[in-house]
Amino acid sequence: MLASARQLLRTGRCHTEAAAIVVPASQPVKCISLSASIHAAEAAPDLSPDSPEQPAVVPALGAIRSDWTREEIQKVFNSPLLELIFTAASVHRLHNNPRQVQRCTLLSIKTGGCPETCTYCAQSSSWSKTTGLKAEKLMDLDDVYEAAVRAKEAGSTRFCMGAAWRGPSQVGARQWDRVLQMVAKVRALGMEVCTTLGMINDVQAQQLATAGLTAYNHNLDTSPEYYGQITTSRKYEDRLNTLAAVREAGISVCAGGIIGMGEGPKDRVGLLHQLATLPEHPESVPINSLVSVAGTPLEGREAPSGLELARCIATARITMPRSMVRLSAGRLSLSMADQALCFMAGANSIFDGDKLLTTPNNERSEDMKMFDLLGLQSRPAFVDLLQRPEPKACAATG
Ligand code: SF4
Repeated sequence: MLASARQLLRTGRCHTEAAAIVVPASQPVKCISLSASIHAAEAAPDLSPDSPEQPAVVPALGAIRSDWTREEIQKVFNSPLLELIFTAASVHRLHNNPRQVQRCTLLSIKTGGCPETCTYCAQSSSWSKTTGLKAEKLMDLDDVYEAAVRAKEAGSTRFCMGAAWRGPSQVGARQWDRVLQMVAKVRALGMEVCTTLGMINDVQAQQLATAGLTAYNHNLDTSPEYYGQITTSRKYEDRLNTLAAVREAGISVCAGGIIGMGEGPKDRVGLLHQLATLPEHPESVPINSLVSVAGTPLEGREAPSGLELARCIATARITMPRSMVRLSAGRLSLSMADQALCFMAGANSIFDGDKLLTTPNNERSEDMKMFDLLGLQSRPAFVDLLQRPEPKACAATG
């Protein structure tokens, strides 16, 4: 009987229709259109006839929610790996074309000399003596533009620019104006434009929006509890404040983290919980594997396995169903089969080009072979993304 105390009311969204489904807790909940199933008994509270609990409202698979508890995400994360990936693949198909994978290019427009103390990063001035990385000046506008044109010709649809700064407040007006011009010029190519420039305030976020910025990257890196092991030069709250300024300016949010820095599984869950409980999910969630750089405090750390990465990606996909989940740094240490598993788990973006800021990355020609073998297609720009009108005028471009 539907009124039985052992029944659960599940509500949520299947394709475009919100659905409220009443199911017995003892039976799998099945999304018929996807053949995706999860066992209600695993996800449900105790609703036996003796239980004082009332039937609970449990959101359906693929529902967009920001009310995840950490325990719920831990439970998803701890699922048997193949079940987890199957569920994530099913959620992926609710919201995305699983054959489409976006190719992005990341350029370091200002390398080294950063005053921050991120222990994983070769660009911190704190480790420059041991890494040997020299600080460089902000690139010229024309050189950045040419790099973006080359990236577009090679098939990238998003061009990301990173500057090793604490934030734009650290630099003068002329340099900041040049960055705004870079944004406007690259956006005029019809590419999505992302920048990662450190901490920004409301005014700077608004200036970037006016210049035509599509997305701003600011990773949370890890859980709040582990953050102090990664840097002490800023607080977790600073990161969240920057994300709020980006969101407020109407710019798409790109925020993710890094695994393999010595954190435990609980920290990986803590990171995903932070991201999945933001008032709106980031449109873009990069999941990076540490690329250990000689001379940094994290020198010599072993890269996480492809299976560890796939577990994080699958959990990100299930908890943030509509976001772009980006298989980011660390792909060089993965086999094609590892990467295929990550795509199955819901990753739908990679960075291509031979460098990711200062660390090596996979050859484009190898990636193209992989796309062919796996039947993947390059995702066009601006698919189901927070659409921004083309900038009509930009003070920075004069
Ligand atoms: S990760 Fe960014 S903020 Fe941290 S040291 Fe490197 S460049 Fe600076």
